[in-house]
Parts: sequence; C-alpha cells; structure tokens
Amino acid sequence: MNTESTLFSNVNIIDGSGDAPFAGHVLVVGNRIEKVVSSPDDLEEQAGTIIDGQGKTLMPGLCDAHLHLTWNDQPTLEHITLMPPEEHLIHSINVAKTVLDAGFTSGVGAAAARPRFDCILRNAINAGDIVGPRYLANGQEICTAGGLGDTSPVHVDIQDLSFGWRVCGPEEMRKAVRMFVKFGVDLIKLNLSGEEITPVPAQTTPMSNEEVAMAMQEARPYGIRACAHARSADSVKQCLNHGVQIIYHASYADTECMDRLEAEKDRFFVGPGLAWLIQTSQGAADWGIAPDSELAQVYARELEYAVEGMQEMRKRGIRIVPGGDYGFAWTPHGTNAKDLEYFVDLIGMSPMEAIVSATSLGGQIMGMPDELGLLKEGYLADLLLVDGDPSADITVLQDTSKLEVIMKDGALYKNAL
Ligand SMILES: [Zn+2]
Repeated sequence: MNTESTLFSNVNIIDGSGDAPFAGHVLVVGNRIEKVVSSPDDLEEQAGTIIDGQGKTLMPGLCDAHLHLTWNDQPTLEHITLMPPEEHLIHSINVAKTVLDAGFTSGVGAAAARPRFDCILRNAINAGDIVGPRYLANGQEICTAGGLGDTSPVHVDIQDLSFGWRVCGPEEMRKAVRMFVKFGVDLIKLNLSGEEITPVPAQTTPMSNEEVAMAMQEARPYGIRACAHARSADSVKQCLNHGVQIIYHASYADTECMDRLEAEKDRFFVGPGLAWLIQTSQGAADWGIAPDSELAQVYARELEYAVEGMQEMRKRGIRIVPGGDYGFAWTPHGTNAKDLEYFVDLIGMSPMEAIVSATSLGGQIMGMPDELGLLKEGYLADLLLVDGDPSADITVLQDTSKLEVIMKDGALYKNAL
C-alpha cells in the first residue's frame, strides 16, 4: 500500500482535451496522475486512499487567467489602496483560499495592488504557509500618468496611493520593470489602453511604443512574459508588435487584429474579462452605477463589441481564456466560474469548449502545457470531483457544494464525501 496515493474509482472522466467524457478509474501517486484505466484491476491494493466517485465527474482543476488576489472587493479603483497594508495582506490571503475553494487550482496574476504582494503570496502558497491556487505572480500594473492605475490625486514621487505603477518615458519603464524583476515576478503587466471609469477612455492608447519596447527588452532576458490591459484596437496591435502574449479585454479588436491573432494563434491568448463589463453595466446599481447611467451605458456598448469580437475569435480558433477581473464590490472573488457560463451563453461555446478554455488552455497559459490542465497520465494531479456533469450544465461549477473533492498537487485539499 502506498500511503501517498489516492484512487478515484468509478468516475466519469472529463480529461480537459475536449473529448467526450468516459467512465474510468484514476490513480494519483505523489503529485502526479499515475494511471487512467477503464478497469480498476489491482489499483485498490496500490492506493492509500480510495475515493468512490459513484459515477460523478472527475476533471482537471480550473485556471483563472486574469486573477487579482490583491483586489479587495472595493467599490472604486481609488479605494483599493486606501485599505492599510496590514489589512490588505490578510484580505489577500483570504482571497487565495476563496479562489481555491471555488475549484480554481491555478491562476495567472493579472497585477498586484502593491509592489511585492503577489510575489510573497505566491511564495507562501508554494511553501505551504497559506492555501491558494498555483499562482503566477505579477507586479503592479505599469501605467501612464493619469491612466488606469494612476489613482494618486497628485503627481508626486510617492506611489503609495496608486494601485498601478506610474511611468513617464522609457527610462522610468526600465526602472519599474527591473524593480519588479528584483521582487521575483513571473509576469509584468502593462496598461496599454484606457478604461471607461478613468479619465482615459477605453479606446485611447496612451502608452508609447518606446515604453512598451523598453518593458519587453527588460523582461525578456529573464524569460518573464507580459500581459496587457488592451481594450483599444491600437493597444492590441502593440501587443502583437511587441510580443505581449497575454492580451486582456481586446474589446475593440479590428479586422487587422483578428487576422494577426489568427495567424499567430499558438503565441497569443485573449482574456476578455466579460464579468467586469457585464456586472459594471448591469449589476453595480448598489454602488452608484445604475444601469441607465451614462457610465453603465458606455460599458454596455463595450460589452456588445466585446461579445461580437469574441464570437469572431472563437470561430477563428484564437485561444480565449476565462478570468473576469474578479475582486470589485460587484464582481466578488469566488464567483470566477461565472465566466464559463458567459462563454457558453454569450460567445457560443459548448460547455465542453468552455471547460477546455479553463483547463487545457489553463495549463498552456500557466506555461506548463505538458504537465498541467489535462487529466492524463503523467500530468500534475490538480483535480475536481464534481457532483454533476459540467459538460451538460456548465453552471454546476459555480456551486461550491457540488465540488466535493478538490485536489491540488496530489494533496486532498477538500474531501466532502
Ligand atoms: Zn484586471
């Protein structure tokens, strides 16, 4: 008997590849999937722990490709950094647990609200000091003066009031990226376009090509990838031109963007972040953004563009990944699986395609395509046992009571059976 092994017997397997579900048995040894078989044979003797799946669904853990563990459920951007650092850190630790409880066993940090927060959270998760998803740590959003991220009311050298890191010119960009590299980031984040709730609207592209080029030049020697806030067509083109592989939003991507994304579909990912658009236009009345307000209407129009664009990208085979910018008052952490419902209802994906976007593509965007995101022999054992069939009803993944077992890295984080 191997005490560090777990057998999931009698499960309906969704392997994350998009193939149809099939009945089987899965043996996990250490932190990897050792065997996926149709007949259990002598596996029970090899397993330390046996979980009788009773025909429920076993599938790879989910990946949120646009995760902000340090967004603290505030009603405005300015409020994010008004929470004192001590409370903010505790809040972020709790968010990491909330995300894992929601079945997301991995996530791409899409920017931190303070310089080192993401790095220390990732390190603490990896050390087992706190619980949370596998996490790619980011720096702060690097932004232009007055753009999204620069929430300081005055232009001084003290950056504490901003959740983004403000730069003016390539040399300040060089300094910013080197600072985040020193802190140990896996990614950098560039705010290339504006955002409607800021003085710089979504279709504006304020960061210069010189600044973007400098950021990539400084990140590249370390193998550090970049992601970008890119709503405007020009900002998407900056991503394509400079090799920013993770493109968030892309609401106003034009035909040229589509053609180029399609031609390089193995290189780029698009994360639309639909939850933010949907909830800000329709679900934020309690926080002063009534659906008939001008701001909500602007977001509703952007949502229409984004949905149409994502439908087109899906047809072209461009990799679309979930992650809805959760962590504002009206987009609370833990509701991350709503994105998959949006993918089905708005973009036209089948439930299975939505599952692939959160599992197989998750492994790819995490930079671990050969060992994460599939339920396959040799892959890391990040698994969910779901009471229900997400390939028939994708919304079942939003009900944490249905996520009966959550395994991360071969360890049973949750076993409610
Ligand atoms: Zn974001």
